[in-house]
Amino acid sequence: MESPGVTLDFVSVVDAASGQEVSLCYHCHKCTSGCPVSADMDLGPDRVLRLLQMGQRERLLASPDIWLCAGCETCATRCPNGIDIARVMDALRQIGLEAGVKPGEGDAYRFHRLFLLVVRTLGRMHEAALLGAYKIWTGHVLSDLDSGAALFVKGKIPLMPRRLTGITAVQKLFDHSPEAKGSGGEREA
Ligand code: SF4
Ligand code: SF4
Repeated sequence: MESPGVTLDFVSVVDAASGQEVSLCYHCHKCTSGCPVSADMDLGPDRVLRLLQMGQRERLLASPDIWLCAGCETCATRCPNGIDIARVMDALRQIGLEAGVKPGEGDAYRFHRLFLLVVRTLGRMHEAALLGAYKIWTGHVLSDLDSGAALFVKGKIPLMPRRLTGITAVQKLFDHSPEAKGSGGEREA
């Protein structure tokens, strides 16, 4: 019998959504030792996989860790079993959104939404637009001003956005997304 919050076949659902085989993980901890954001996570990548193997669906979908993962792929390159945890985290985020679960890390969720909005609008990233909108939405207006100014002075952050010539091809990708089909997307965080 399943305990509250536990779905024993949840690992199969996530395996199918991510294209990974999470049961191969034997918890050697190599992924977490190399993860650049594990210090800010509650669990860290290998314990996310352990809870997944145990069917802890509700705890995982509400976890801030699945939103804090930066998708850098360091874990995938270190894993002796070739598990791509970034894809597992992506699948958990998508399953959580489709199930109406409030994201466990609101600012990271807002960053994701704005990132996609900028790419959908321009066909490419424009860092100044992304950071400006993020600061307004989150209220973190004064944070990271020093590093932002330094990058601007070095010409790393162009002020004026430019639309990609082939933007239609990019927008077609969004038309195929679950959000465009009405099965995922906007959530209060
Ligand atoms: S490196 Fe691979 S096998 Fe080791 S704990 Fe991480 S996911 Fe599991
Ligand atoms: S992909 Fe995510 S979990 Fe893996 S090392 Fe990068 S931030 Fe950590």
